[in-house]
Amino acid sequence: MNERETLKQTVLAIAGANPRKCMKCGKCTGACPAFDEMEVPPHRFVSMVEEGRVEELLGTRSLWLCLTCFACVERCPRGVVPARFIEAVRLVQVRCQGQNHLKAEQIPDALDEELPQQAIVSAFRKYSK
Ligand code: SF4
Ligand code: SF4
Repeated sequence: MNERETLKQTVLAIAGANPRKCMKCGKCTGACPAFDEMEVPPHRFVSMVEEGRVEELLGTRSLWLCLTCFACVERCPRGVVPARFIEAVRLVQVRCQGQNHLKAEQIPDALDEELPQQAIVSAFRKYSK
Protein backbone atom coordinates (compact mmCIF):
# COMPACT_ATOMS: atom_id res chain seq x y z
CA MET A 1 0.00 0.00 0.00
CA ASN A 2 1.47 3.41 -0.93
CA GLU A 3 1.59 6.38 1.44
CA ARG A 4 -1.46 8.04 -0.11
CA GLU A 5 -3.56 4.93 0.36
CA THR A 6 -2.20 4.38 3.88
CA LEU A 7 -3.24 7.90 4.88
CA LYS A 8 -6.69 7.38 3.43
CA GLN A 9 -7.14 4.07 5.23
CA THR A 10 -5.97 5.65 8.50
CA VAL A 11 -8.57 8.40 8.15
CA LEU A 12 -11.31 5.91 7.26
CA ALA A 13 -10.41 3.77 10.27
CA ILE A 14 -10.47 6.75 12.67
CA ALA A 15 -13.67 8.15 11.17
CA GLY A 16 -15.45 4.81 11.08
CA ALA A 17 -17.59 6.12 8.24
CA ASN A 18 -17.92 5.55 4.52
CA PRO A 19 -17.38 8.48 2.13
CA ARG A 20 -18.59 6.40 -0.81
CA LYS A 21 -22.16 6.81 0.42
CA CYS A 22 -21.95 10.54 -0.40
CA MET A 23 -24.17 11.60 -3.29
CA LYS A 24 -22.61 15.09 -3.43
CA CYS A 25 -25.84 16.92 -2.71
CA GLY A 26 -24.06 19.67 -0.74
CA LYS A 27 -26.63 19.74 2.08
CA CYS A 28 -23.87 19.35 4.68
CA THR A 29 -22.17 22.49 3.40
CA GLY A 30 -25.50 24.31 3.25
CA ALA A 31 -25.99 23.59 6.96
CA CYS A 32 -22.42 24.37 8.03
CA PRO A 33 -22.06 27.64 9.96
CA ALA A 34 -18.37 27.86 9.05
CA PHE A 35 -18.42 26.91 5.36
CA ASP A 36 -17.77 30.40 3.99
CA GLU A 37 -14.50 30.57 5.92
CA MET A 38 -13.36 27.09 4.89
CA GLU A 39 -11.22 26.57 1.80
CA VAL A 40 -12.55 23.00 1.77
CA PRO A 41 -16.20 22.88 2.84
CA PRO A 42 -17.68 19.63 4.23
CA HIS A 43 -19.04 18.15 0.97
CA ARG A 44 -15.69 18.64 -0.75
CA PHE A 45 -13.85 17.37 2.29
CA VAL A 46 -15.74 14.07 2.05
CA SER A 47 -15.00 13.83 -1.69
CA MET A 48 -11.31 14.52 -1.18
CA VAL A 49 -11.04 11.79 1.46
CA GLU A 50 -12.73 9.40 -0.94
CA GLU A 51 -10.27 10.41 -3.68
CA GLY A 52 -7.36 9.72 -1.32
CA ARG A 53 -6.31 13.39 -1.17
CA VAL A 54 -5.73 13.39 2.59
CA GLU A 55 -2.29 14.96 2.35
CA GLU A 56 -3.82 18.08 0.78
CA LEU A 57 -6.36 18.24 3.59
CA LEU A 58 -3.74 18.09 6.33
CA GLY A 59 -2.68 21.68 5.75
CA THR A 60 -6.12 23.23 5.46
CA ARG A 61 -7.58 25.74 7.90
CA SER A 62 -10.89 23.88 7.56
CA LEU A 63 -9.57 21.45 10.18
CA TRP A 64 -9.47 24.21 12.77
CA LEU A 65 -12.50 26.15 11.59
CA CYS A 66 -14.89 23.22 12.00
CA LEU A 67 -16.90 23.90 15.15
CA THR A 68 -17.79 20.25 15.70
CA CYS A 69 -21.42 21.33 15.82
CA PHE A 70 -22.58 18.27 13.81
CA ALA A 71 -25.09 20.27 11.76
CA CYS A 72 -23.65 18.52 8.69
CA VAL A 73 -24.27 15.15 10.31
CA GLU A 74 -27.89 16.03 11.09
CA ARG A 75 -28.49 17.29 7.58
CA CYS A 76 -26.87 14.51 5.55
CA PRO A 77 -29.54 12.31 3.94
CA ARG A 78 -27.06 9.45 3.45
CA GLY A 79 -25.61 9.09 6.94
CA VAL A 80 -22.13 10.01 5.74
CA VAL A 81 -21.19 11.93 8.95
CA PRO A 82 -18.90 14.51 7.30
CA ALA A 83 -17.72 15.91 10.65
CA ARG A 84 -16.08 12.59 11.45
CA PHE A 85 -13.79 12.88 8.43
CA ILE A 86 -12.78 16.38 9.43
CA GLU A 87 -12.15 15.17 12.96
CA ALA A 88 -10.15 12.19 11.70
CA VAL A 89 -7.90 14.30 9.47
CA ARG A 90 -7.47 16.81 12.30
CA LEU A 91 -6.37 13.99 14.57
CA VAL A 92 -3.86 12.76 11.98
CA GLN A 93 -2.50 16.30 11.68
CA VAL A 94 -2.17 16.74 15.45
CA ARG A 95 -0.44 13.37 15.74
CA CYS A 96 1.97 14.29 12.91
CA GLN A 97 2.88 17.44 14.81
CA GLY A 98 3.67 15.20 17.76
CA GLN A 99 2.08 17.66 20.14
CA ASN A 100 -1.26 19.23 20.93
CA HIS A 101 -2.29 22.07 18.62
CA LEU A 102 -2.99 24.27 21.60
CA LYS A 103 -1.30 23.95 24.98
CA ALA A 104 -3.33 24.30 28.17
CA GLU A 105 -1.26 27.38 29.16
CA GLN A 106 -2.36 29.16 25.99
CA ILE A 107 -6.06 28.77 26.71
CA PRO A 108 -6.60 31.69 29.16
CA ASP A 109 -5.46 34.14 26.46
CA ALA A 110 -7.98 32.71 24.04
CA LEU A 111 -10.94 32.99 26.42
CA ASP A 112 -13.53 35.67 26.60
CA GLU A 113 -16.43 35.96 29.01
CA GLU A 114 -19.09 35.35 26.38
CA LEU A 115 -17.64 32.00 25.32
CA PRO A 116 -20.02 29.13 26.17
CA GLN A 117 -18.53 26.37 28.32
CA GLN A 118 -19.46 23.81 25.67
CA ALA A 119 -17.20 25.61 23.18
CA ILE A 120 -14.28 25.49 25.61
CA VAL A 121 -14.69 21.75 26.21
CA SER A 122 -15.10 21.14 22.48
CA ALA A 123 -11.99 23.18 21.67
CA PHE A 124 -9.92 21.40 24.28
CA ARG A 125 -10.93 18.06 22.77
CA LYS A 126 -10.31 19.31 19.27
CA TYR A 127 -6.83 20.63 19.89
CA SER A 128 -5.57 17.66 21.90
CA LYS A 129 -4.10 14.37 20.77
S1 SF4 B 1 -19.40 19.88 12.35
FE1 SF4 B 1 -17.94 21.21 11.30
S2 SF4 B 1 -18.23 20.79 9.14
FE2 SF4 B 1 -20.02 20.00 10.21
S3 SF4 B 1 -21.52 21.64 10.12
FE3 SF4 B 1 -20.41 21.88 12.05
S4 SF4 B 1 -18.74 23.28 11.58
FE4 SF4 B 1 -19.51 22.53 9.63
S1 SF4 C 1 -25.00 15.97 2.86
FE1 SF4 C 1 -24.14 13.89 2.91
S2 SF4 C 1 -24.58 13.05 0.87
FE2 SF4 C 1 -24.83 15.29 0.74
S3 SF4 C 1 -22.81 16.06 0.08
FE3 SF4 C 1 -22.84 16.12 2.30
S4 SF4 C 1 -21.93 14.18 2.92
FE4 SF4 C 1 -22.52 13.95 0.79
